[in-house]
Amino acid sequence: MISAMEVYQLLPKTNCKRCGLPTCMAFAVGLLGREKKIEDCTPLLEEAKYEKKLAGLRELLAPILSADATETGMVIHPEKCYGCGNCVVACPVNVANDPKGTAIGRGPVSGKAILMVEDGVVKCVHVDECRRFGPEKVLCNACIATCPSKAIEFI
Ligand code: SF4
Ligand code: SF4
Ligand code: SF4
Repeated sequence: MISAMEVYQLLPKTNCKRCGLPTCMAFAVGLLGREKKIEDCTPLLEEAKYEKKLAGLRELLAPILSADATETGMVIHPEKCYGCGNCVVACPVNVANDPKGTAIGRGPVSGKAILMVEDGVVKCVHVDECRRFGPEKVLCNACIATCPSKAIEFI
C-alpha cells in the first residue's frame, strides 16, 4: 500500500496551489484517490529541478496508473489465482445481487456479479458494483481476506 507521505516526499512541497488544492499533502491524497493526475502539478513538470522527483513519482505510482488497476484500485494477479471461487462467494455484493447463484455457493447467474471465475481465473466484471467504488466507498476487504494465494490486492 502506497502512503500519502511517500507521495508527498516526491512533490515540490511548496503549497503553491497551482494544482487547485491548498497543499501538496492534499494533492498527494488526491493522486492516491485518482481524483488528480501527476500532470496537474505543473511545477513538477515544468521545473528542471524537480526532474528526479517526477521520475520517482511516476515509478511509485505506476501500479495505480496502470491499465491493470480498476477504478477501485483492485488488481488481480492471474498467475496467483487458481480459480477456487472463495472471493466470488465471500463478496457481500455478489451474494446480495445474486440470490440464485453466488448466495447458494454456485457461480454467478445474475449478470451483476463483481467477481466471477472464468477459465479457471477470477475476473472483475462489474467494478462499479464494488463497495470501494465511488465517493461513498467502504473499505471492504472480503475478497482479499478469503483469497488463499493473495491473487487480489487493492493499491
Ligand atoms: S501544484 Fe504541486 S507544488 Fe503546487 S501545491 Fe499542488 S502539488 Fe504542491
Ligand atoms: S471489495 Fe468487497 S464489494 Fe468489492 S469485490 Fe471485494 S468483497 Fe466485493
Ligand atoms: S482470486 Fe483468490 S480466492 Fe479468488 S478465485 Fe482466485 S485464488 Fe480463489
